[in-house]
Amino acid sequence: MKTVVLATNNAHKVSEITHALDFPGWEFKTLREMGVDSDPAEDADTFLGNARIKALAAHEACDGMAALADDSGLEVDALNGAPGVWSSRFAGEDATDADNNRKLVANLEGVADDARTARFVCTLVFIDEDGTETVSRGTIEGRIGYVEQGSGGFGYDPLFWPDVFEGTCTLAEVPQSRKNEVSHRGNALRALRAELEKKIN
Ligand code: IMP
Repeated sequence: MKTVVLATNNAHKVSEITHALDFPGWEFKTLREMGVDSDPAEDADTFLGNARIKALAAHEACDGMAALADDSGLEVDALNGAPGVWSSRFAGEDATDADNNRKLVANLEGVADDARTARFVCTLVFIDEDGTETVSRGTIEGRIGYVEQGSGGFGYDPLFWPDVFEGTCTLAEVPQSRKNEVSHRGNALRALRAELEKKIN
């Protein structure tokens, strides 16, 4: 059995990763399940940099075990890519999703429909037992709305209108399974699976 430590304790992410990378003989454990307390400062200025910090910290804290980390966020074109790596802390260190969403709507006041383009980005970093790194990136393109709509998902989902839904609903108005089919994290996981399959075979 190959054990991969996940540098997250988020139950949604754990379940999505476990399903997406269901290779025979692989099992996943969270840092908590490993009895490890790893919370490195995510102070890089890219998603890749922050995912790498988390993956390396987990790999080292678990004595060289294979490790997987993700980092994600929202890039809004009219805000020059903000909130980006600051997505969870956009409205301050202890900001709630509601605080961040309020700030996003306020910062886009007066910005026309066509200029409200944005994307969610997810970067994954997998570090194997021998230290080799496999990286993947996934995105989903869309537009930022004017008011929150929908109660599913988390974060900026109620303001995000994916292009792929053609204006019918936000990312907070579809079941998790539908979100996984189109989301940045789903796309990054499918890309990582393809890369890892090449290495396994
Ligand atoms: P993290 O990578 O889980 O730390 O996510 C960083 C931040 O990006 C979250 O706190 C959210 O604000 C935002 N974010 C990342 N993924 C999503 C998503 O799928 N929906 C909505 N917001 C997201």
